Amino acid sequence: MKLRRTPAAAAAAVVLALTATACGSGSDSGSNGDKITVGIKFDQPGLGLKTPDGTYAGFDVDVAKYVAKELGFAEDKINWKQAPSAERENLIKNGDVKFVVASYSINEKRLKEVDFAGPYFVTHQDLLVRADDSSITKVEDLNSKKLCSVTGSTSAQNVKEKLAPKADLQQLGGYSECLTGLENKRVDALTTDASILAGYASQKEHQGKFKLAGLSLSNENYGIGIKKGDSELKGKINKALEKMVSDGTWDKLVKQHFGPSGYKNDPAPKIAG
Ligand code: GLU
Repeated sequence: MKLRRTPAAAAAAVVLALTATACGSGSDSGSNGDKITVGIKFDQPGLGLKTPDGTYAGFDVDVAKYVAKELGFAEDKINWKQAPSAERENLIKNGDVKFVVASYSINEKRLKEVDFAGPYFVTHQDLLVRADDSSITKVEDLNSKKLCSVTGSTSAQNVKEKLAPKADLQQLGGYSECLTGLENKRVDALTTDASILAGYASQKEHQGKFKLAGLSLSNENYGIGIKKGDSELKGKINKALEKMVSDGTWDKLVKQHFGPSGYKNDPAPKIAG
């Protein structure tokens, strides 16, 4: 018997097909026709910051803009989405973002869930303490102290596993929350990448309040997080990153965003390919 479609059934089929397409290109991949969604931090001055006027600023933001442009998306075609440390893998896996540029270190654990283009920046874990506190100068000092870091970060992981397993570690959702704790003396130190800590220490409202310990407790290679197995996108982003270094943009952006904090950056890392 031959099945005959009624006009209503045919229309329903078209709607279904259209819905499936919309899901495929939209919610499933972080891009939707002429727009792309990119994950960044919203509370890290110098890297990814949402300013009071609703714009976004920082090294990661500008790296993301450069890469998006090379992929064919002008600045006004980018939707910015907050990507807290603990959410990054999920945002990528769920297709909520096309890529993440958010002080996102490449490591083995994360590589099981996502892929990375890059690295495009190298930094090191350090400590931020109150300017008048001379009791913390080395990592062992933390074992009798209250320490703050962020859930889902390599910084918190490193403290628990090797740096100071006896420290009273509080894990919060974002580094800006740790900073408030440090200011209010609810914690004695904040630990994460020196690139991030320098940004906080140099903010106008914090000047003179905090200091970096100047320790290099790890190597953090920032990569651009993408969906696992998307080798085409990885290739395109790596090409964009190489161009960004060779045309001088990387140097310019590093000076622009880390110059004000006085952060002494490492040279541009070699892209893994
Ligand atoms: N780079 C480290 C990480 O990816 C710490 C900074 C952050 O949490 O974004 O975990």
